Amino acid sequence: MQSRPPNADQMTKSDTPYAAVMARISQAARAAARDPQEVRLIAVSKTFGPERIEPVIAQGQTVFGENRVQEAQAKWPGLREKYPDIELHLIGPLQSNKAADAVGLFDVIHTVDREKIATAIAKEMAKQGRSPQLFVQVNTGGEAQKSGVDPREAAAFVARCRDEHGLDIAGLMCLPPFEENPGPHFALLRKLAAEADCPLLSMGMSADFETAIEFGATHVRVGSAIFGERHKPA
Ligand SMILES: *Cc1c(COP(=O)(O)O)cnc(C)c1O
Repeated sequence: MQSRPPNADQMTKSDTPYAAVMARISQAARAAARDPQEVRLIAVSKTFGPERIEPVIAQGQTVFGENRVQEAQAKWPGLREKYPDIELHLIGPLQSNKAADAVGLFDVIHTVDREKIATAIAKEMAKQGRSPQLFVQVNTGGEAQKSGVDPREAAAFVARCRDEHGLDIAGLMCLPPFEENPGPHFALLRKLAAEADCPLLSMGMSADFETAIEFGATHVRVGSAIFGERHKPA
């Protein structure tokens, strides 16, 4: 499933924040001599309720991201019944006691980052007969408080996920330090992904998705530029 560009009818709504983000993605892709279709927009709806999400679905968006399993469980099953095309991404840290719920709910998990989680996900995939697409999160800034594998361990961890847990790791994900220039982090993630033979790159948020596209992002995770400022802590 690709995030669809707005159709002709919806083009008239090109003044919405969502349409503006879509246009900026296309422009950034073309500026980097890339096909805009290669860049998937994940609309990050954390903290926002269905009344804010449905208008974005109405503009053609099918791909959404949440950072908490519990919040997503409360919000998405109802929406999915109404909109069966939805593709749901987990972009926040995963605890192993939530692995069953995460594998049951999400189509893509971006935050595989340690042995215990890889084991729990593999077990649940076998048990539930579901196979979400998987990304390994890399802590490119080496921040103590942030999830993700050490960049020096990334290739070995991806290999262990594949060889020991039978997990098909499709890509790498990063969340650069807030106060730093993100370019070098995106470049590092791209290099690590090539080394680990991971074709997909989940990087770039509201503040830096155009830079991420320049560095090869295949998935950008954009929240506030679409939904506005979050008032609840995420
Ligand atoms: C909240 C969040 C985003 C989106 O952030 P914005 O700055 O609102 O675009 C992207 N990635 C992760 C991991 C997040 O938690």
